[in-house]
Amino acid sequence: AKQDGRNTYRFFTAEMQAESDRTLLLENALRRALERDQLTLHYQPQICMSSGRVIGAEALLRWWHPDLGCVSPAEFIPVAEASGLILQIGEWVMRTACRQLKAWMLDGIGGMGEITMAVNLSSVQFRHADLPALVSRILEESQLAPALLELELTEGVAMNDPHGAIAVMNDLHDRGIRMSIDDFGTGYSSLSYLKKFRVYKLKIDQQFVRDLSDDPEDRAIVSAIISMAKSLGLQTIAEGVESQGQLDFLREQGCNEVQGYFFAKPMPAEGFSRFVLERDEP
Ligand code: C2E
Ligand code: CA
Ligand code: CA
Ligand code: CA
Repeated sequence: AKQDGRNTYRFFTAEMQAESDRTLLLENALRRALERDQLTLHYQPQICMSSGRVIGAEALLRWWHPDLGCVSPAEFIPVAEASGLILQIGEWVMRTACRQLKAWMLDGIGGMGEITMAVNLSSVQFRHADLPALVSRILEESQLAPALLELELTEGVAMNDPHGAIAVMNDLHDRGIRMSIDDFGTGYSSLSYLKKFRVYKLKIDQQFVRDLSDDPEDRAIVSAIISMAKSLGLQTIAEGVESQGQLDFLREQGCNEVQGYFFAKPMPAEGFSRFVLERDEP
């Protein structure tokens, strides 16, 4: 038994070592990728439930490394956060996404100012004192109205320091920038803070959407989130919509917007504009 125990222990540390090697490898590779401009953004359409039109894009980071291949943001974002690189990456994401939206507008994609750009924000960025000024600066640079940018925050950003979070949200709000709560329903702070946070939209997490067609509990949760949002005057968007059945339920409940593979996967900018043009054809 003792031997077993030691083997288990050894195995565990070996695994931990491998993990920290990978983290270090990713961190260095990520730093180089940033310098060499090897990060890209894909854009996933957000669809208005009532008109069926594309009314938004969510910018999602993509990283293709010559040796490592495609590394998922779910893996490299935490590395970027731990190393502080996320500040530079996040600024690059925001600037690139804003420029892209402006370029689409100038091309007449989706009309003038009918498409908003949603950008994911790490809690590290959110806690950085410079954030509201940085966002304003980027909007000015790209000559975009602030209401065209939507910052997606998770409930977690407010957890450590709710007072600080409220101050930052007020500042962003006063600058005309909209905020939505991403992965809504998966954190714990949601209900008590919703009132105090200057939030514009709730993004219902895909874990509740996945089994919507046959799980009565998920149906109850989604329906409760939507009706609560309505009574608080908040917009709702459901993510991870993959089927007609899910869409039908969300429509019945009065969800405002939908996003998911049922409509389109995240795609490069050219793919996105082609999608909008094809979809908007009469
Ligand atoms: P998220 O913000 O919750 O993004 C939704 C994720 O679900 C994306 O994964 C998207 O590709 C995927 N998705 C969209 N529709 C469907 C669907 O119908 N079915 C399924 N199964 N999945 C769908 P992705 O692109 O791998 O991103 C993972 C996470 O990485 C994001 O989750 C976000 O938290 C983070 N992330 C991505 N880009 C950025 C960024 O620029 N900054 C920050 N801070 N985080 C980012
Ligand atoms: Ca998101
Ligand atoms: Ca999400
Ligand atoms: Ca997420």
